[in-house]
Amino acid sequence: MRIGTGYDLHRLEAGLALVLGGVRISHAKGLSGHSDGDALAHAIIDALLGAAALGNIGRLFPDTDPQHEGADSLDLLARAGAHVMKNGYSIVNIDATIIAQEPTLDPHLDEMRENLARCLKISADRISVKAKTNEGLGPEGRGEAISVHAAALLEDA
Ligand code: MG
Repeated sequence: MRIGTGYDLHRLEAGLALVLGGVRISHAKGLSGHSDGDALAHAIIDALLGAAALGNIGRLFPDTDPQHEGADSLDLLARAGAHVMKNGYSIVNIDATIIAQEPTLDPHLDEMRENLARCLKISADRISVKAKTNEGLGPEGRGEAISVHAAALLEDA
C-alpha cells in the first residue's frame, strides 16, 4: 500500500466557468488557470502521482506546453490515472475535501464522484468528495479562491 496527498488552489474570477470534478456549476465566478482550473481534478492527480512517487501534475503536464492551454482536467486525470496504473498500481480509494465559501456544492458532489470514477476506471464508491466553507476566513472564506485537499491510496496491481 502507498498513500499520497495532493493540494491545489485556484483564484475565483468573474466571468469564468466554475468547473469542479468535471461538473459545470452555476456561479458568478469561476476558477482561473492555464487549464479549465478544475482544482479538484488537479489535487487528485497530485495525490495519485504522489502515492506512486511519480512527481506531480506540473511535471507530467507542463503549463509551458500550449497543448494544455484550456485543457479538460478530466482528460488530464484519466491520463494521470493510466500513468499510475501502467507503473504497476491500482487505486484503493480517494478522499477529497473542497474548501469553498460559495456556492453550495453538496448537490453536485455525487456527479463529481461519478465523473472522477469514470476517468479512473474505478467504481464511485472508492471516491469520496466532501465540501466545506472556511468560516468566512482566508482567501477561500472571502470567495477569492477555492482550494482542495486530496488523499489517495494505491496498492500493487
Ligand atoms: Mg491547479
